[in-house]
Amino acid sequence: MMKQGDLFGTKPKAPYLKRMTVIDAGEVHGVNSVRYQCFCCNLETSWMVEKTITKAKRGIPCLQCNQDKLRILHLNLKEQWWNEINSGIKTLEYRLRNQYWFKRLVGKQYDFVFVKLGYPSKTQIDRIIVFVWNGYFPMIVKHPEFDGKQEVYAIDLTERVWGI
Ligand SMILES: [Zn+2]
Repeated sequence: MMKQGDLFGTKPKAPYLKRMTVIDAGEVHGVNSVRYQCFCCNLETSWMVEKTITKAKRGIPCLQCNQDKLRILHLNLKEQWWNEINSGIKTLEYRLRNQYWFKRLVGKQYDFVFVKLGYPSKTQIDRIIVFVWNGYFPMIVKHPEFDGKQEVYAIDLTERVWGI
């Protein structure tokens, strides 16, 4: 067992992430919003809602520069479902409980979930909504994409960190 205060060499380091910084701030539709830019790769975001200035000043991890350091679950969606998630109506994304999704979900840990409109390129960030990975739970649903009732993994999409 580790002794308390034994900080040197034992504490796991959080991965160093390149961060994007605020380049523009203002009100968009009455909501505090900011735009970020990464000074490494020059990637710019569109307007993003930020609750506090303190949070905005910390910046956000650059999607482009950190792709190899972040553990990301990628979900590619049809426009209808992507729009519902984007507007906040839909907060769960269902994946069939088959071998393909078993391998990707069961016992896995991610940092973020990228919810993509179709198959965007790395720079088409307005087609990617990013959520904190908060796991999944098994569920039985009836959904227009599936035949009848199906056993699914319901992926939690409530903690949004990125996306317009
Ligand atoms: Zn970058």
